[in-house]
Amino acid sequence: MDFSQNNTRDNSLHDDSFRRSLIPEVIRRIVIKAGSRVLVDDLGRPDPEQISSLIGQIAALHGKGYEVIFVSSGAIAAGVQALGWPNRPVSLPDLQMAAAVGQGVLLNFYSDQLARYKCRLGQVLLTHADLNDRVRHLNARNTIMAMLRNRVIPVVNENDVVAVDEIRFGDNDLLAAMAATLVDADLLILLTTSDGLFRTEGGRLVERIPVLEDITDETIEMAQGKGSSWSSGGMASKLQSADRANKAGTPVIIANGHQENILDRLLQGEDLGTLINSTSTQHKLKARKKWIAFFHRPQGSIYVDEGAGRAITKKGHSLLPVGVQRTDGKFRAGSLVNIRNTEGKTIARGLTSYDRDDIERIKGKRSADVPFVLGDRHHVEVIHRDNMVILAK
Ligand code: GLU
Repeated sequence: MDFSQNNTRDNSLHDDSFRRSLIPEVIRRIVIKAGSRVLVDDLGRPDPEQISSLIGQIAALHGKGYEVIFVSSGAIAAGVQALGWPNRPVSLPDLQMAAAVGQGVLLNFYSDQLARYKCRLGQVLLTHADLNDRVRHLNARNTIMAMLRNRVIPVVNENDVVAVDEIRFGDNDLLAAMAATLVDADLLILLTTSDGLFRTEGGRLVERIPVLEDITDETIEMAQGKGSSWSSGGMASKLQSADRANKAGTPVIIANGHQENILDRLLQGEDLGTLINSTSTQHKLKARKKWIAFFHRPQGSIYVDEGAGRAITKKGHSLLPVGVQRTDGKFRAGSLVNIRNTEGKTIARGLTSYDRDDIERIKGKRSADVPFVLGDRHHVEVIHRDNMVILAK
């Protein structure tokens, strides 16, 4: 399908009726993430053949008019090889140094490969902290959008020199979900070395799960499988990342990056890998709310009683002082906090109108009584519904 003539975005993808057959019709902007394991050979060295194949596939999609954002790990592996080290180092500064050396090597290789297809790339190095900051977040979005408009392929990695989040935990899984949310991607493809998620019996993989509609704590626990010594992301971090992308309205496919022509086949709607498209949490959040929900780190929690929990999640009400039971953390007016129910589960997240001390003084009080405690400087709501996103029903 050639999208170059067609600039309208189709939102039917975000309906509950989303099916693989729709993929060729409605997908236009895709974030493709390749973890380190997809890019290296058995000895952990960057595998030029595998990398060339992937770049060829990406260039082909680009040529068909898709907007592709490529989130690539592999900097550490490339750096270790360039430095002539026998193994992946253990200490963080050594890993960071390897990434600094390897990122250049990797991007040079990508750039040379893409030039064969007359494509150009732009390097985007991000950290979670960048995306948590409203201004830097918007700058990153503007830059990537400008690249897409100019038919430049953004190649994203964590800025490992200043951050170690993905080296430690995810091998860029969460970064990929954040990137997908940042650019409002229609689809996030997480390429790994497994054919997707599998149902297991007694530790044995029995059958591939083609579609997963809900990611629960249980599903994440089931997804064992720690990363090899060459990368850090197991299935659990992929599921967490998929959950995050789903909640922002982006479906996810986990698939095997070593399968032949995998990207094009997925985009033709072929039943490969595991499509994760949670229906219960599907709602497209507005940009501000998306930022509240996913890019900001909560500074504390407000625990609410059952009635308030229901009013917030089922009826879309604001959080009033009367529903607050207790608080924790260190936060000021304007901070992002979790709203937790009586079981401690996070049901929503929002920007608080009060600092923690003031909430402690007015918790459980009827709104009419609040001015007697706080005087004139009071708000009716502890968290207004406009500044809140619901995370669980
Ligand atoms: N950003 C790192 C890289 O590009 C993450 C991958 C890893 O931990 O192996 O190498």
